[in-house]
Formats: sequence, structure tokens, C-alpha cells
Amino acid sequence: MADYLISGGTGYVPEDGLTAQQLFASADGLTYNDFLILPGFIDFIADEVDLTSALTRKITLKTPLISSPMDTVTEADMAIAMAKFEQGFITDPVVLSPSHTVGDVLEAKMRHGFSGIPITETGTMGSKLVGIVTSRDIDFLAEKDHTSLLSEVMTPRIELVVAPAGVTLKEANEILQRSKKGKLPIVNDRDELVAIIARTDLKKNRDYPLASKDSHKQLLCGAAVGTREDDKYRLDLLTQAGVDVIVLDSSQGNSVYQIAMVHYIKQKYPHLQVIGGNVVTAAQAKNLIDAGVDGLRVGMGCGSICITQEVMACGRPQGTAVYKVAEYARRFGVPIIADGGIQTVGHVVKALALGASTVMMGSLLAATTEAPGEYFFSDGVRLKKYRGMGSLDAMEKSSSSQKRYFSEGDKVKIAQGVSGSIQDKGSIQKFVPYLIAGIQHGCQDIGARSLSVLRSMMYSGELKFEKRTMSAQIEGGVHGLHSYEKRLY
Ligand code: IMP
Repeated sequence: MADYLISGGTGYVPEDGLTAQQLFASADGLTYNDFLILPGFIDFIADEVDLTSALTRKITLKTPLISSPMDTVTEADMAIAMAKFEQGFITDPVVLSPSHTVGDVLEAKMRHGFSGIPITETGTMGSKLVGIVTSRDIDFLAEKDHTSLLSEVMTPRIELVVAPAGVTLKEANEILQRSKKGKLPIVNDRDELVAIIARTDLKKNRDYPLASKDSHKQLLCGAAVGTREDDKYRLDLLTQAGVDVIVLDSSQGNSVYQIAMVHYIKQKYPHLQVIGGNVVTAAQAKNLIDAGVDGLRVGMGCGSICITQEVMACGRPQGTAVYKVAEYARRFGVPIIADGGIQTVGHVVKALALGASTVMMGSLLAATTEAPGEYFFSDGVRLKKYRGMGSLDAMEKSSSSQKRYFSEGDKVKIAQGVSGSIQDKGSIQKFVPYLIAGIQHGCQDIGARSLSVLRSMMYSGELKFEKRTMSAQIEGGVHGLHSYEKRLY
């Protein structure tokens, strides 16, 4: 005790917790629930945490979130909505109303570090745009003017340059350049504010030219293909349509078929980014990295709808899989997608803290407005269908899911997934901002200002983990209440 109770309050602090290397040194495979991250030191606000992260060797995303290529999760609506979060359309900016004051703007500026706040009738998104307040409107106001209403100081709607909903980033960029403004509000045909674009964000996009390389299809889009002959035709069509990244969709990616497909794509379309997988060991990853993949999808048997481990006896607990593959692949500059098993925003933070650059979500994004399929009611609960691509249900309807989970010659189809339903989650326009803010708060508690800092803290051993016993897991959840309501955002 005398070791660290030195007068003056400073001095030696004993080692505490495990490094990631120590955590995964034992033979037991760990899931996200089996460990926690020990908190660090906070000297920045959560909003400042930079979530920029690599999807592949050449594609960088602003948020580390990807929707899963599954027929009950991702079709056009989901892809477009998700891509906007990556690309600088800000759909949840700070918004004020004309009856707010200059003081409110200053306070928002202090908390969020920017000005240029759109003003709508009700002070919320989706309401009629009536003006914008920028630092130029308030810079020279005296202290006594801080109570002035924004209606008196704002630049009114009539003087604003706006763009219509559906504008492409390229067009928005041109409008911003021409107007020389810092912010471009995007409005629908009822003149209601649906998004804004900031000049600073467009500059960031310029710094990652491959993130928006395709001028007429500027939203980043990936698509999954299999490894059969007819997938080559799908590949041609996808590249003609401007796809940015191809995901080779296989539950066990370490195969001659996938390696041959990687070679084929790299030869025919050298600039196309290719994500291989799925893998859960360094040995599997090695073969795909040697073949030339630009990213790896990690996970086998951890998906919410998945029965692979039960049926095939193969797989790996996801925490271990992510750490082991990321630790190997980073030596070759190949980013990792932690795919499957994400049940909470805390799991996202844990996946990123174990070395993943992005996470892929199925169940978490299923049953949102943007997910394919109609809502239906069961016992008074509003639901949408969610099913594994290796479920018999999906197989019977789609030949592409058969390719992921079955060999052509298989006489008996063995299901690797189930089909079920999930309760309505509303729009991802609300849910994804919750995930983003949650990740930022997690990073803040850890003391990491960015995801790259988070990863380097982990690899340097500064980031400390601790295993959770069963009772620790129970303690970490809500307990001892007669009843409760769990509202997350
Ligand atoms: P979730 O986010 O836990 O729901 O997991 C989604 C992930 O599970 C997907 O991205 C796939 O990697 C995987 N997956 C999808 N369908 C199946 C299946 O039928 N069996 C096993 N894994 C599946």
C-alpha cells in the first residue's frame, strides 16, 4: 500500500487490468460479453471523437457502421440511408428556432465547437427552414445582445442558398463552391429541412478521394457476390453500375474458390476494392491476404440468426475471432470488419477496441423502416421479418443465399440459420445517430479521441481489459427491479 500512497497524492499506480494480448492469451474463446474495458482519462467532449475508419485498404468511412448483405436487412433504401451517414450529409445537426436567443447559439457553439446553425420554425429537423445563424451574424454583438432573438439576427430564408433533397454530393459541392457559404441546407419540396452539408465535411471528402471517387454515383456502395461462374456476370453488372467495393460472401472464405475469385477480380478490375471472408483465424486470413484482398470480414457462428456452430461444429467466439484476425491482418494494412453478434452499442465499442475497423450489423438494423419487407402485427407487437441467409426459408426464395451456404452438388440442404422476427425499431435516421453518439461516449470514457487512437492504445497495451464472471455480467445488467422500461434514446 505504501507503494502508491505517497504524500501529495501522486506517485506510483500499480498495474491494473489486462492488455488485449493477456486477455486473449488463454485458450478460452471470448465473446463481447465476457470482458469489459477499464475506463481511462477524459479531457475532451464526446462530440469531438473522430470515428473515421478504414473499410478497406483504400476506402475510408466517417462512421464505422455497415449493414449486412442479407435480404431482410439491405436493399436500396438501407444502402442509401447508411451511405449518407458516411458521406457528409448531416441529418441530425443542431437546429434552433427563431425564438431561441444569441446566447443559445453561443452555448451550442461551446458544446459542439461550431456555428452555422439552421433555424427552423419549430427548432427541429423536418420543420420549415426559416434562416441560418452563422458566426458572421453574431460575431460583433455585445454581451447585452445575448438575449436577442435569433429571428432578429439570422440570415433569413430568402437570402439562403439551399439545395433540393436528393442532390448528389458533387452537385452540393459545386453549389457550395459557387455560393462561398460554409453550410448548405438541404430542403424537401415543402421547404422543410432534411439535412445540411458543411464545407468542412466536403473538404474532408476531398482528402479521401476514393471515398467518393465516382462522380455520378457518389454515395459509397458495396455489393456481395459469390464465387460461382454466374457471379462473374453479376460482378460485371455491378461494376458497370459503379459499385465501390465487392464483398465475397461466404461463411467459410478460406477456399480455393474464393482465392480464385479474388485473383479474377483483381486481374479484371484492378481498382475495385475486394473484401474477403468470412474468416476467424489468422491462418484463414493469410490465404486471402496473400490472394490480394483489401479487407476481411470476420465472424463465424456469432450471428443472431446463426446455427452454424451448432450444426457444423466450426466457428469461434467473436471477441477472440476479431482480436486474432485483426492483430494478424494489420501487419499487412488490411482492415477488419467485425461481422455479426453485435447486440448493443457497447458491443460495437468492444469490437473496435479489439482491432476491428468497422462493424457489420444484421439484427441491429433489421426491422427498421429502411429494412426490406413489410411490418406485420403479432400479439399486438409491430414486427418485421429477419432471417439468416442460410435458413431454409431464405434458401428456398433466393439462389444467392444458397451459394453462400451450400455447395452446388449438395443433395441435402443443411440449414445454418433460422428465420424469425424483430420488433419495429423506427427509422435508422434516428437509430444510427444513437449508435454514433454511443460509440463516441464509449471512446470518451476510454479516453480515446479517435478510433485510430483507440486501436493504438490497445496495441500498445495502454488499453486495459478485464474478464467478466457470470455474476459480473448479471451485475452489469439491470437487476433487482420488479419491472422497468428500457428506453435507449
Ligand atoms: P447479426 O448482426 O448478429 O444478426 O449477424 C449478421 C451476420 O450473420 C451476417 O452479416 C452474416 O455474416 C451472418 N449470417 C447471415 N445469415 C446467416 C445464416 O443463415 N447463418 C449463419 N450466419 C449468418
